[in-house]
Amino acid sequence: MAQVKVGFYGHVRQYHNLQKEIDAAIHEVLESGTYVLGPKVKQFEQELAAYMHMKEAVGLNSGTDALLLPLLAMAIGPGDEVITTSNTFFATAEAIWLAGATPVFVDIDPKTCNIDEDLIEAAVSPRTKAIIPVHLYGQPAKMREVAKIAKAHNLYVIEDCAQALGARGDDFVIGELSDVVATSFIIQKNLGCFGDGGAIVTNNEAIATQVRKLRNHGSSKRSCHSVGYNSRLDELHAAVLSVKLKHLDKCNDLRRARAKEFDAGLAGTSLTLPYALPGYRHIYHLYVVETDDRDGLQAYLQSQGITALTHYPIAIHQQEGYPWGCAARISGSLKHTENSAGRVLSLPMYPELTSEEAKLTVEAIRAWEKTRGR
Ligand SMILES: *Cc1c(COP(=O)(O)O)cnc(C)c1O
Repeated sequence: MAQVKVGFYGHVRQYHNLQKEIDAAIHEVLESGTYVLGPKVKQFEQELAAYMHMKEAVGLNSGTDALLLPLLAMAIGPGDEVITTSNTFFATAEAIWLAGATPVFVDIDPKTCNIDEDLIEAAVSPRTKAIIPVHLYGQPAKMREVAKIAKAHNLYVIEDCAQALGARGDDFVIGELSDVVATSFIIQKNLGCFGDGGAIVTNNEAIATQVRKLRNHGSSKRSCHSVGYNSRLDELHAAVLSVKLKHLDKCNDLRRARAKEFDAGLAGTSLTLPYALPGYRHIYHLYVVETDDRDGLQAYLQSQGITALTHYPIAIHQQEGYPWGCAARISGSLKHTENSAGRVLSLPMYPELTSEEAKLTVEAIRAWEKTRGR
């Protein structure tokens, strides 16, 4: 196997860039003696809510629970339907199943790979309770259209923002047109801690209060237990996230700069490049190209020491064993979802990726094109 020249992640580089601040933050927590639900979690929750221009954030142990707990807080469960897409990380649908509800999959817009807003209305049934649009790859779904349908049918909206913290729409911001924003801090996300973490951000204080209870065994201040979960964000992670949040916009700008270089370097090739909606701030959690020989390109890049991965190679409804004994419904055809799964390839993309590395990647792709006689 070729030596890795361009890796897929920049985690360690990011740590080194921020090492002084991060080490100090970790040290402070270790010396404090408070490691669970202390001042660092509270502080980070306030900073995150302020960053999103929203009222409340609740730190959790994962993005998966950031989807599950609000569903439970909304009393969505068995017999209820939640509309989403099948072209997403498994956890989006998994959270709906964990709540006992039924995911209803609608197709994507092949340009953005996000939910096709024109198909949502047809998927609404008397049992529909919520819509979970996913801001896939770092670009918001068309929230104005989603919110309009939700309002017409009295549905909740949870934005799956695990890949898009710091992104914006053209005339809306994330969180403005929904009930809850769910996000993840697992290391590879744009805002990542050194392990697992997640949060909800919301203007709905009742939901925030309920999720706060659910994350800590259903308990509020003293006793008053209902059955909940152990889904807390740790102090160590919160302290690191406070450091990294300050750098998030700058890091996202660096991703956008590399994406521009890819766009320019790959223009005129046979690849379909990421489509950024006019006026949107796409923050390129992933830079995803499409080609009819995805496996060939991935193998070629690998032979050149460049790691490219697939997000996601198999749509959820096509995975083995689907739907694993749970209820699920497909609304209409998922042909664009299925087509995209066979074509997508994610190029290396992170703030610490150098222009030189982006250039190497572009050159390798252009050399691959030549081997195919283009
Ligand atoms: C990462 C991710 C999740 C789940 O987050 P975890 O922290 O891994 O549980 C959910 N939805 C999407 C779109 C994701 O990318």
